Amino acid sequence: MKVLVTGSSGLVGKAFQWIVDQIHDSSDHYIYLTSKEADLTKEQEVKNVFQTHKPDAVVHIAANVGGLFKNMNYKAQMYEDNILMNTFVLKYARLFQVKKVVMLLSTCIFPDGIPVQEESLHKGPPHPSNEGYAYSKRMMEVHARILHQEHMIQTICLSPTNIYGPFDNFHLQEAHVFPALIYKCYVAKKENKPFVVCGSGKPLRQFIYSFDVANIIHAVLQDHKVPSGHYICAPPSKDSEVSIETLARLIAKEMEYEHALTFDTSYADGQFKKTVEPHPLIEDLPFTSLERGLKVTVQWFLDNIEHTGNVRV
Ligand code: NAP
Ligand code: GDP
Repeated sequence: MKVLVTGSSGLVGKAFQWIVDQIHDSSDHYIYLTSKEADLTKEQEVKNVFQTHKPDAVVHIAANVGGLFKNMNYKAQMYEDNILMNTFVLKYARLFQVKKVVMLLSTCIFPDGIPVQEESLHKGPPHPSNEGYAYSKRMMEVHARILHQEHMIQTICLSPTNIYGPFDNFHLQEAHVFPALIYKCYVAKKENKPFVVCGSGKPLRQFIYSFDVANIIHAVLQDHKVPSGHYICAPPSKDSEVSIETLARLIAKEMEYEHALTFDTSYADGQFKKTVEPHPLIEDLPFTSLERGLKVTVQWFLDNIEHTGNVRV
């Protein structure tokens, strides 16, 4: 099987490549794309990619991604980039008769304030902080569903909770909370200043390790019996939900800078919670504990920021 993978230079893309390399299945051939090979917001570039590679399957990971503050400040750009990328990738998957597409949605695109379940995706507006990103991703779910109904393409939508791990984007203003707090704590410790957490610290989140998400993607890609549809990917139990304050304390402890934590409530809290349970399909796959994943991620960050400089900040 020839598999085209978009977004291979990011948090999930790097983890996916690592998983594939571990498995060494010579019957599959993977083509890894970044924005250098093709800007997926440009239709001609997407068409060229499909024309050149003629893949049997697509793993569509690429997206314009960011944390709460990027989503709040660049709604138009998040909407435009993602609706274009997703539309062109799925359109050319159809035109070039791809058999299977695995793609990533997110638990942050669901209606705010009602239980988060696959079937509730379109039953209310998303949280206003990320409506650009959320609606573009919701349209990908619609597109995927009709490609399956009308063209028999096997389309699998995965909605993970907040993902973290090595190779993340650690940008101080635009990153997700996990990498942003690691970098903030590092800078605070270096300058002997307060470690400032945005908002009240009370919102709740479930964190999933990037290599676990990559493993799920690989499992559903290889399993030809998985029904087309939408699957929530989350830690195995609701007990895994932690407050932002707890996360900040765990990071401060791991980075040995525990005394200086402060909260800046002039910043938004965003969605209070978006609690989910994993879909039964993925519930038995391996899961990395937050403690273990955090330790590895902090170590990766420290090694790379101090030695290679190869960190997205
Ligand atoms: P990421 O680290 O920011 O990586 C994004 C990837 O997309 C990069 O490889 C990037 O390529 C590529 N990309 C961005 N714009 C592009 C463009 N115009 N043309 C071609 N490629 C482009 O993101 P991630 O955290 O791995 O996210 C992966 C997927 O998971 C996304 O679909 C995201 O929506 C979803 N997701 C993420 C989270 C999370 O917490 N991170 C949670 C739920 C779902 P370059 O490096 O070349 O720019
Ligand atoms: P979300 O889960 O989609 O809302 O996105 P994030 O991963 O950005 O998490 C946002 C939550 O973390 C909000 O409650 C923020 O107030 C809180 N938070 C605390 N400090 C930071 C920070 O430095 N960056 C980000 N992105 N969020 C932070």
